[in-house]
Amino acid sequence: MKYSCNLIRDLLPLYCDRVCSKDSAEAVQEHISTCEECKNIYTEMQQSVSMDRAIYEKQQLASMQEVKKKIKKRNTIFASIGIVAGILFVIIVIRVLLVAGVIIFAVQDGRKDCYTSTNIDDYGVFEEFNGYSKLDIFPKQLSDNMEVYKYSYYYADTFLDPTAQIYLECSYEEDAYSKEIERLEGIQEEYEGRIQPIVYDTDSFSYPAYVTIDADNHCYEYALLIGEGKIAYVFLQFIKEEDIVFPAEYLPKEYEQKETGYSIYLFEYQNGARHGVY
Ligand SMILES: [Zn+2]
Repeated sequence: MKYSCNLIRDLLPLYCDRVCSKDSAEAVQEHISTCEECKNIYTEMQQSVSMDRAIYEKQQLASMQEVKKKIKKRNTIFASIGIVAGILFVIIVIRVLLVAGVIIFAVQDGRKDCYTSTNIDDYGVFEEFNGYSKLDIFPKQLSDNMEVYKYSYYYADTFLDPTAQIYLECSYEEDAYSKEIERLEGIQEEYEGRIQPIVYDTDSFSYPAYVTIDADNHCYEYALLIGEGKIAYVFLQFIKEEDIVFPAEYLPKEYEQKETGYSIYLFEYQNGARHGVY
């Protein structure tokens, strides 16, 4: 034998790990082909190395699978967060668009039909009026025996309820005044055989008043006898106190403070239904 067994056995671990030189490898191969003992040692060593390698590979595989699992789990969480965030974003966008749309619609609608006039020549032309009234208290037309001090017409067809303010202040010659009082006293509305008359009210105002609507759905309609043959005719619908065009003393004492009101145009039935004749 060229080399001693001890020398070959020293080389065997390197040979098994395939890290020895070509010459060493040839020497080992040559030796174990003839030496049974060294061959047995080599076989055992190789088995142990391959076993170690198998265990190592198995462990590697396991840890790789673990990493893959973790990545997959993380991706699932990210995907879920992404979906939820996406849905929330879409909801927010829709809400913003809806609100913007409603605002634009309301503003445009508010502008759409708005009529104002303080020209007495326009009296009686109540443009597009769509209030909860037939405007019974207002004189049908103006005559020569009356003098007009102020006339104002405002009507806006808004998104929710139309707002309106009509005001006429005038005085009458003696005979004409009595005639006008007679006309006011006779105002009534009829619906299916029922009659609702105008109300003469000396409590709710600072002056005696003929009232057809009092605080009904933010609506007021009355003729105020302000003295010296003068009458102030008022119709209000959703009008704020600061927006009135006439003296505040001509407003009802409890303007916009009453819970329920009265309207000659609305006929209430026992089942709670109300029928309007306007
Ligand atoms: Zn040997």
